[in-house]
Amino acid sequence: MSKYWNIKTQGIEPYVAGEQPKDGQRVIKLNTNENPYAPSPAIKEVLKNFDIDTLRLYPDTNSTVFIDAVASVYGVSRENVFAGNGSDEVLAICWQALFEKMGNTDKKVLMPDISYSFYPVYSSFYDVAPEKVPLREGFTVDPDDYCGKECAGIAIANPNAPTSKAITLDEIEKILKANPDVPVIIDEAYAAYAEDYESAATLIGKYKNLVVVRTMSKSYGLAGIRLGYAIADEEIITGLRKVRDSFNSYPVDRLTQRIGAAAMLDRENFEKNRLAVIKTRKFITEELRKVGFDIPDSSANFIFAKPPKSIDAETLYKNLKAKGILVRYFNKPVINEYLRITIGTDEEMKEFLEAVLKEI
Ligand code: PMP
Repeated sequence: MSKYWNIKTQGIEPYVAGEQPKDGQRVIKLNTNENPYAPSPAIKEVLKNFDIDTLRLYPDTNSTVFIDAVASVYGVSRENVFAGNGSDEVLAICWQALFEKMGNTDKKVLMPDISYSFYPVYSSFYDVAPEKVPLREGFTVDPDDYCGKECAGIAIANPNAPTSKAITLDEIEKILKANPDVPVIIDEAYAAYAEDYESAATLIGKYKNLVVVRTMSKSYGLAGIRLGYAIADEEIITGLRKVRDSFNSYPVDRLTQRIGAAAMLDRENFEKNRLAVIKTRKFITEELRKVGFDIPDSSANFIFAKPPKSIDAETLYKNLKAKGILVRYFNKPVINEYLRITIGTDEEMKEFLEAVLKEI
């Protein structure tokens, strides 16, 4: 192999995704925060009526049918919405479009020290300097830690991952007000599961520096189609489109645009599945706490759970895996004492609980 391309990729430390079982393998999959329930039944109609002849043609670059559905749900205009191939891609484009590179600035992008592990990967890949802000006691993001500091921008997952804890809309506003000149990304991948939280998208129009990133993967049960979106001021959206068009003008295919629109407009299915997950989350949190697990109050479709003293997180992860139950274990300081457990169906969580009770 040529030594040249080796050199180019040598320093890259990519994101490591949660494991995916092979097709047909029976596992209880509680490791990548997917939705245990089926997506909108309206998708069946989309598939039935889809004209395959249209696949000859490239898709609409802006995904208008989808962004119009998003705009109607959030009460914004289509100029405020950007769609991409999963919110991972939307975030990657945000990093490139919005955060000043090292060399151009000595300011850094503030982000919690424990958060979505893709953020440091984007930062290093796109030459943006991250400043990791330590979480407070109990994995709390303290808005004051993001105010009054010179920075090149801010990125916060709300609820945070893998800790599952959320900050309030008032706290987000405080951060936005204190940083009017830099982009503030609020990654709401799991926000549908925060009970008393309205999306920060309700602040669009008030703050030009706000970028809300959301995904169809979790609360719409559509991880398999790859569709995410950003809601922001028109000027920011124009910037995101420029980066997209310097890279791949057609990130969302024709079928995905239609599926996404149908799912977005089916508020009933969204609401039903969201509430079911929240109910199961309460059940499993209570049951695990009864037997000594330490679990912060979750606002997400997963819990972050520290096993009782009788067993450490890594051993429990391995033992569950041997029984066909996948949860996520992060071999990193502090969080290596915890497991991130996705909320499955009631039946899955009961089976999971039974297996856990035999281990502790
Ligand atoms: N943000 C956070 C905090 C996540 O946990 C994930 C899922 N791994 C994503 C964004 C990306 O989701 P997707 O690319 O499936 O839209």
